[in-house]
Amino acid sequence: MTMEKTKPVDKHYRGASGMWEAVIGLEVHAQVASNAKLFSTASTEFGAEPNMNVDLVDAAMPGMLPVLNTYCVEQAVRTGLGVGAEINLRSQFDRKNYFYPDLPQGYQISQLYHPIVGEGEILVEIEPGVGRTVRIEHIHLEQDAGKSLHDMHPGLSMVDLNRSGIALMEIVTYPDIRSPEEAAATILKLRQIMRYLGTCDGNMQNGNLRADVNVSVRPVETGGYGTRCEIKNMNSTRFIQQAITCEVERQIGVIEDGGCVVQETRLFDPDTGSTRSMRSKEEAHDYRYFPCPDLLPLVLEKDWVETIRKALPELPDARKERLVTEYGITAYDAAVLTAEQESADFFESVARGRQGKLAANWVINELFGRLNRESLDLDEAPVSADQLGELLDHVIDRTISSKIAKDVFNRLWTEGGCAGDIVRDHNLAQVTDIDSIRALVDTVFAQNPEQVRKAQKNPRVAGFLVGQTLKASGGKANPEVVNSIILERLGL
Ligand code: ADP
Ligand code: MG
Repeated sequence: MTMEKTKPVDKHYRGASGMWEAVIGLEVHAQVASNAKLFSTASTEFGAEPNMNVDLVDAAMPGMLPVLNTYCVEQAVRTGLGVGAEINLRSQFDRKNYFYPDLPQGYQISQLYHPIVGEGEILVEIEPGVGRTVRIEHIHLEQDAGKSLHDMHPGLSMVDLNRSGIALMEIVTYPDIRSPEEAAATILKLRQIMRYLGTCDGNMQNGNLRADVNVSVRPVETGGYGTRCEIKNMNSTRFIQQAITCEVERQIGVIEDGGCVVQETRLFDPDTGSTRSMRSKEEAHDYRYFPCPDLLPLVLEKDWVETIRKALPELPDARKERLVTEYGITAYDAAVLTAEQESADFFESVARGRQGKLAANWVINELFGRLNRESLDLDEAPVSADQLGELLDHVIDRTISSKIAKDVFNRLWTEGGCAGDIVRDHNLAQVTDIDSIRALVDTVFAQNPEQVRKAQKNPRVAGFLVGQTLKASGGKANPEVVNSIILERLGL
């Protein structure tokens, strides 16, 4: 496995008194990809008119009772299995009590003492072979809250309960992360695993994946754990990295000035690129957690969990590993290709039965490259995997050179069709016929007597003549045949 091959790079920060290290732990809130909410049948559709997706339970009407959505439970179990975690066959929902306008119940239903998923771990790489294992402490299920809208009315704040009651998985890591880059990579790895599983769509812009980032610093020399601050509700990996960087510097400054870091909740302001204090850290007892009397303990059957385990799809690390061994491609290319399931599927249908490295090259450089330039998604690609595969067949059997293949690819992209027809219609097949290449070489030799003389003394100069001959053939002459004929003519 890649596990053993991956090595951490320790990032250190220089302070006035010596070298410092960051210690980071994440609490990632991932919205379960479910059409209905955790305890009601209201829709979870994004972008609906305010308060259109609100059931009586979500509005906390008196006497309403929550009914657990088993689909959401299943997705939490699948996510747990996807991060190699133990599944707790018995878990329990608790009430986390607090008052806020976007929380009509007056409490959030969450799992504090007995979460559904226990310890797991993921491999987090910032590039192939560089990174570390980040342990998952637990994953629990909880309700999302509503949203206060401050920009709809000049004098009033409004409350939108569409998000109220949506199922979230809170994924809590141990403080194993050591740099802003690793923090971003941890979120992206969780996102990738959940997208493979289909348990969370990972759309950070829509707020379907957000993280609270816990940061502390410690002297490299002495180690230990310092007091941490928590930066709340971040939904951009770029901002997360900025926030960690400035928070680390702030904390080093505080300590080196003889002060103490105060444990508190901070907010990141993208405009100033810095964090500011929001509130002092609250403790579990501040929330008066207690088991939710409306919900029985959640008891899962072992067989059910095992059935789910057996039906899991191939996950990113395994797929990456397999692409390397099965197709002989580099770990780097495999990482690019397995970023999304769809791109790995695309690659495999191009590469299967052909040449892995060639296919990886074409998919990554030509196809992904062009999609990128034209800001298109893979499912909008004008060239399908079948079309690209058939093009590569013509390269592999040497009907066309790779240079001509790029022209054919361009035609496939803009005009559609199939490589075979394009090669035939535009007369693009490589010329391997010795006599016609000899004739071209004759002409080139006649036109460049000076170069011919030079090449006879120094064979390295022959490249010019090869180039001229290829050019004269419109790129269609087989370069190897041209090369050997020229060497022969030069008497070399
Ligand atoms: P709480 O009980 O206050 O929520 P936890 O121990 O559950 O605190 O940790 C919450 C998050 O803070 C976890 O992601 C954990 O990894 C992280 N964390 C804990 N200690 C530290 C520390 N010293 N520095 C940075 N992060 C930390
Ligand atoms: Mg905690």
